[in-house]
Amino acid sequence: MTAPAPVLSARDLRIVYRAPGAAAPVPVVEDVSFDLHPGRMLALVGESGCGKSVTAAALGGLLPRGMELASGRIDAAPGVLRAGRGLAYVFQDPGECLDPVFRVGRQIVEAMPPADRRHSADRLRALLVQVGFHDPDRVARSYPHQLSGGMQQRAMLAMALAGRPRILVADEPTTALDVTVQARLLRLLADLQRSGNLAVLLITHNLGVVAEVADDLLVMYAGRAVESGPVSLLSSPRHPYVEGLLRALPRLAPDAPPLEGIPGQVPALGRRPAGCPFHPRCPLARPGCATAVPHPTRGPAGHTVACHVRAFPSPSESTP
Ligand code: SF4
Repeated sequence: MTAPAPVLSARDLRIVYRAPGAAAPVPVVEDVSFDLHPGRMLALVGESGCGKSVTAAALGGLLPRGMELASGRIDAAPGVLRAGRGLAYVFQDPGECLDPVFRVGRQIVEAMPPADRRHSADRLRALLVQVGFHDPDRVARSYPHQLSGGMQQRAMLAMALAGRPRILVADEPTTALDVTVQARLLRLLADLQRSGNLAVLLITHNLGVVAEVADDLLVMYAGRAVESGPVSLLSSPRHPYVEGLLRALPRLAPDAPPLEGIPGQVPALGRRPAGCPFHPRCPLARPGCATAVPHPTRGPAGHTVACHVRAFPSPSESTP
């Protein structure tokens, strides 16, 4: 099935950090491109420190102090790139969105556009039911501390949806929740995205989650896109980092191979090695990997990979 036209296109994003008094800016994200489509979920995956949250923050102009979009383009329909309206965020910590001193219902109503506030009680109830509450009136009257972690997360989702966004960015929304609540929240996100024609950008370090709910995938390492395409690429990944992430996933089968972590760590900001940033940890690294940056190569069905060893052949090479 062909994907609908994107609601947002990000091309060649380059985000830098300027430390006070530093001579030169430090690159944080480089060469990252993706599209967000209505009714589809793109998962941005990688270990902590890979640049996922910074990339998502750039979409809504929410980059942390000292960081800036140095080059690249973000194109979207008018009004889409307004954080809180066309573009809504849900974070890992409900404390970042929910104010502890106001009732949940009031906070959701305040996030509604003016036209919806005329019928705010009905709209509030509908939103709370939409995010899976069977007792919306009680939840609306509650203060955040009277709700469990999973309920707070759903209330935050209702608040994000109150602005009728076209794009929902969910940044590690389930990390602080227990496994069953995580699964319920992710299914809810997937349902909302399909029924509401939302474009969802899910940020996560957990590839296991992605296979269940996402349509498309972009894996980042040390601020660069290493592999992307439809989520089905996980059955035959090409990049050694993605293979490593998959080997590190717990499996329940009695004959499952033992878990293997990826040796080493993601380089700290400003300490990205030359060449392929993954080369100090890569089991397939060759001498050239430490000097030349691999750029994305394109394969079938929108699958791209940035790796010297596992690159897709260029069209001229693959033509007999
Ligand atoms: Fe490994 Fe080289 Fe590929 Fe980087 S370019 S992932 S170091 S094989």
